[in-house]
Amino acid sequence: MSRRYMVAGNWKMNGSLAANAELVAGISAGLSACADVEVLVCPPAGYLTQVKELIGNSAIKLGAQNLSDQAKPGAFTGEMHGQMLSELGATHVIVGHSERRSLYGETNELVAAKVQTAQALGLTPVLCVGETLEQRDGGQTESVLKLQLETVLDLVGVEAFSNLVVAYEPVWAIGTGRTASAEQAQDAHAFLRGLIAQRNATIGGSVQILYGGSVKPGNAAELFAGADVDGGLIGGASLKSEDFLGICRAAQA
Ligand code: PEP
Repeated sequence: MSRRYMVAGNWKMNGSLAANAELVAGISAGLSACADVEVLVCPPAGYLTQVKELIGNSAIKLGAQNLSDQAKPGAFTGEMHGQMLSELGATHVIVGHSERRSLYGETNELVAAKVQTAQALGLTPVLCVGETLEQRDGGQTESVLKLQLETVLDLVGVEAFSNLVVAYEPVWAIGTGRTASAEQAQDAHAFLRGLIAQRNATIGGSVQILYGGSVKPGNAAELFAGADVDGGLIGGASLKSEDFLGICRAAQA
């Protein structure tokens, strides 16, 4: 089953009107060299409107970094409803990033509820899963990934995974400069794909699974070579157009 590569930039809580304009202009200028790659940028929600305008008619897709699990808008101070994100131009939304899990207490159940809400509102979730270093060293990688993934599968059903992107992000590799080896990444991706395929072989074969964790232009090609690795979710290196494009070109190659 041939799958498209995706390279997604998670800008986290970074950016300014001026920096966003420069970044999107830089990415747009180099996009023709990676025409077969789905390129997604996820700015802070407050900048979605600006970035939507900057993207214009280019092929860059727009995503948010988080959404409320609430199905309906209402009295939830500080939250963003998925429909608002759509209205501002987002088609995708990152759900369950490890920073949301560790810093804001998001549980597997809440992450699953957010996936369900996102899909109900027409957004494609980019579902992040990944183990901590302690869990990896303790031999728990597969059990942690299984629980994170299956909590979502059990709630939304495997069919929902035909409109969902999975991102495997080992927590110990995020923002640390330390990446998983290509083999560690491929093993985790094959494991995740297998769990989905157990429920539906076609969907297991077609779901995009991205790797995230200190991906740079210099290591992207090796990481993306794995048979079950369909691109990357990029943090730090997504803030410089040349670095981000270097990773997009590695996916194209
Ligand atoms: C991330 O935050 O999703 C991420 C992968 O960050 P970095 O590329 O900086 O490790």
